[in-house]
Amino acid sequence: MAAAWALTLLAFAGVGAGLLLGHTWRLSHHLAAIGGGVLCGIALFWVIPEIAESFGWIGSASLAIGACCALAALDWLLSHSEHSPRNGIAGPLLAATAIHSFLDGWSVRAFAIQPVADVAVPIGLALHKIPEGLALGWIARRSFLKVGKAVAAAAAVEAFTLAGAVIEPRANRSGVAAFGEGWSAAVLAVIAGSFLFLGVHALAPARKRAGVVGLFVITLLAVGGIALLRR
Ligand SMILES: [Zn+2]
Repeated sequence: MAAAWALTLLAFAGVGAGLLLGHTWRLSHHLAAIGGGVLCGIALFWVIPEIAESFGWIGSASLAIGACCALAALDWLLSHSEHSPRNGIAGPLLAATAIHSFLDGWSVRAFAIQPVADVAVPIGLALHKIPEGLALGWIARRSFLKVGKAVAAAAAVEAFTLAGAVIEPRANRSGVAAFGEGWSAAVLAVIAGSFLFLGVHALAPARKRAGVVGLFVITLLAVGGIALLRR
């Protein structure tokens, strides 16, 4: 639970900076690229191979890619569902970020019992939480007339990180009781998919900036190397 608190506080710091600065830092793209590389590496070299042990490679890869596409579609739908960009752009975007934060908290708790990943997952998630908070704070500031409302909305969205972390152990116990081993594999697939989506999401908008793709690839390969050494 400590990691979930740390993630939420980092996001709050990002939100505060985003509200104050009014624009995102250049450095935040590089942080996001490293975080995205860690998360994609964990998904590709740790989580998918683990699901492959019970579902086979084709099954586990399609589960993860399916979850990634579903999240991408949801994100696209929520962020494109308003007609007027000036009024109420915040609503759907806040909803998408709340769902995403919930998964952040869920993942950090789910990996807390896995060796190595119990360190790598919080680091990967922490590196994307600051840019995420920055962007959220910046958008909330532009979408709400009152600063107080912007702070409340952005903080409420990031608090879903804690909700995910609180619910994970309970939901996991009842899920395993009801569905057996298939439950764990399905949850891991959704997490792998969300990590892949996060990685691509971190990389895509900033890919033309100097060093961003390089940092992503180096981090991805480093995580892959560590995973191979441990096998
Ligand atoms: Zn996040």
